[in-house]
Amino acid sequence: MNYHQYYQTDVINGPGTRATLFVSGCEHQCRGCYNQSTWNPCSGHVFDADMAQRIVDDLNDERIKRRGLSLSGGDPLYPANLDAILSLVKQVKEQCPGKDIWLWTGYRLAELSSQQQAVVDLVNVVVDGKFEQELADPSLVFRGSSNQIIHYLR
Ligand code: SF4
Repeated sequence: MNYHQYYQTDVINGPGTRATLFVSGCEHQCRGCYNQSTWNPCSGHVFDADMAQRIVDDLNDERIKRRGLSLSGGDPLYPANLDAILSLVKQVKEQCPGKDIWLWTGYRLAELSSQQQAVVDLVNVVVDGKFEQELADPSLVFRGSSNQIIHYLR
């Protein structure tokens, strides 16, 4: 898996102060996508064990209390990302007690493969659905268009 951006401290993407990772790779091709440069899974930087450890260390850094991790993109549930994302999510659940994980995906929860579902089974909140330009609404919180749904799973 590759990633485009990592924000060590973020107050935009999800509730509270967070760490946010924007991964590479997306097949949805939403019209009006705000982040087309992430579509190519080979773009950006390689996500490696050092990067995963950096995220864990940031989440556990008491100097800036972060509520959790946000995973966006691109699409964290893009098939080629699933091994790395599942590994990261497991690592955060094991090593960062009390931190929540939010995940944005263009796939609908009802349509996930078993491998995608294995990731979703470990995250707290999923915002699902493609960005629909006709339904875009800047007043929406944590989503771009009104067809997208915030699922508070656990
Ligand atoms: S799912 Fe997100 S990154 Fe992918 S095309 Fe749609 S808006 Fe862009």
